[in-house]
Amino acid sequence: MMMRRGILATRDELRSLRAKTTRKPFDAIYSRLQKRCALILESSPVTEQQWRAIWEQGGWGAALRAARIAQGRIWDLLIAHHIDTNRAYRDRAIEELKDLTRWKSWTDPSHNHLPADVCTAEAAAAAVVALDWLWEDLSEADRLRVLQAVRSKAIEPYHKAIQKKAWWYTSCNNWNAVVNAGCGLAGLALGDEEPRAEEAFLLARRGLNQFFAALGREGGWDEGIGYWGYAMRYLVLFAQACSRLADDQRIFHARGMDATGLFAVYFSPCGQAVSFGDNATVPLFGALYLLVKQFGQRDLTWWLDTYSFHHDVSTTDLAAAGLALLFRPADADAARRPNLAPVKVFHQIGWAAVADTWPRPSLYVAAKTGDLAANHSHRDMNSIQLQVDGEILLADPGSPKYTREYSSKSRGEFYEVQARAHNTIIVADRDHELDAQGRILEAQSAQNYRWIACGADNACGENVQFVRHVVMIVEAKSSQGRMVIVLDELNSGVPETAQVLWHTGGAIKLNERKKTGTITGQRSTLNFALSSHSKAKATTGTHEPSPGRVDNILKLSAGVLGPTIFVSVFSREPIRRKIELKETSSSTDIKVDGVHLVFKARKHNLVLDKVEVK
Ligand SMILES: [Zn+2]
Repeated sequence: MMMRRGILATRDELRSLRAKTTRKPFDAIYSRLQKRCALILESSPVTEQQWRAIWEQGGWGAALRAARIAQGRIWDLLIAHHIDTNRAYRDRAIEELKDLTRWKSWTDPSHNHLPADVCTAEAAAAAVVALDWLWEDLSEADRLRVLQAVRSKAIEPYHKAIQKKAWWYTSCNNWNAVVNAGCGLAGLALGDEEPRAEEAFLLARRGLNQFFAALGREGGWDEGIGYWGYAMRYLVLFAQACSRLADDQRIFHARGMDATGLFAVYFSPCGQAVSFGDNATVPLFGALYLLVKQFGQRDLTWWLDTYSFHHDVSTTDLAAAGLALLFRPADADAARRPNLAPVKVFHQIGWAAVADTWPRPSLYVAAKTGDLAANHSHRDMNSIQLQVDGEILLADPGSPKYTREYSSKSRGEFYEVQARAHNTIIVADRDHELDAQGRILEAQSAQNYRWIACGADNACGENVQFVRHVVMIVEAKSSQGRMVIVLDELNSGVPETAQVLWHTGGAIKLNERKKTGTITGQRSTLNFALSSHSKAKATTGTHEPSPGRVDNILKLSAGVLGPTIFVSVFSREPIRRKIELKETSSSTDIKVDGVHLVFKARKHNLVLDKVEVK
């Protein structure tokens, strides 16, 4: 035998999935898989010619995307083919595999300074698993062609990259996980008889130590949930292969793996990404059922079961349905009411999720501090996002389309990356300082409120302290969120202008004199009131970072010197009375529409001392 078999499953194991498909929830997943495979047959195969044309027109990451699409199609087609023999599925999988094998290189031209990249990893994983599931259906010449492609387009370039000290090998971002796990998978598959491949496998195992050094016990990931998912998908696939072929459980047992599944759950309320930084997408991958299999997490099962199979199937997806059939344990029990915390802090990365109630929050806030220099992060210290009834009304403008410029040093010139594009404070029109290290200072949850405090470090400048308090008022009986009060403590050593910024895709109506108004989205309306003890001015504006993407902005500006308080209230109900803000040397009182908050002054920041709700 020229490769280890049964990398993710043996062919017999795939055939035995048939028994699952008549049972809930697998019946629905299987019917999605069939729908998708039928669609794939109607589409044209992925070819090098196609992605090269896109690349030549300036499309960034065209080969990477093509490799990913090919992988998703081949795996899903082959899983479906084993469950219910379908020659058309098999033949199409062979055609896609042959096309992939013929590519001149498996490295994306967007990264052509590197011998191996994430595209290499995705193509290599696609090819070895496909070969494993097609072995008996291919001629010997075809098998050798695929094996030769894996050697020359993945394993050798992977070695070369490490020799040339490719940055990803020792970095702690998603590339480390994807390239090492994808190429490691190929190395493991071929490693039985090929020393170079076995060596690649061992190098991959070692390279991943950097990733796990960064993961941390809580399992949070500061590149955001999109990149977390990308990394985790490959890690668990590799972990599964290591466990099956090398009896090596170390990846599953690595620190943080038992907790990390919930990171994405907490930042995708109602199945919507409320993440920070680039690539805010919900990573609903079939491969993540491996975490369920390993750790039996019922909350993760609930999340994957509930949200994975909502959207329409497409020909460009990853193998979600196929891998879900394969990896979701037959007896996995989804929690009917997931046991999620109303206030969840990932201290190591400085992120917090605040919900009125789970599993479907009607009012939800995500807050972000942390390391502004983290890979793929924006200058978004102390920024928050607010979701109302499943709609994000205070939003992060997301990331621009990936281009050469966005991947270069001029990334910081893009609006979406800058502090002024975020729901935070900027001082003297300065962007947030890249070396700032913020953290979540306080977190509390009681029956009728949630409270977090976020420390910005020096993000607004050397002379500026900035602490943001977010208090969510909750109806004790119904657990429904009523309003969110944001109290910002700013202290500037020199006279400056500060701006409190709120961004929305909804329409803003502002009464400038009263500093009150509404934000109206597609489905819900939020009432707001702004206040400050210094002379502040409320205005609105818009920004169009790219054609068709409109960012509506609500701004509260004031001159600041010494300690200054800003209050922004967002309420489901109209706010009838003016915000009353009273400050003494020892406390700060806020009264708004039957809610009375008392903050006591402590050495470094205010502390919520009393919450009265009428
Ligand atoms: Zn952002």
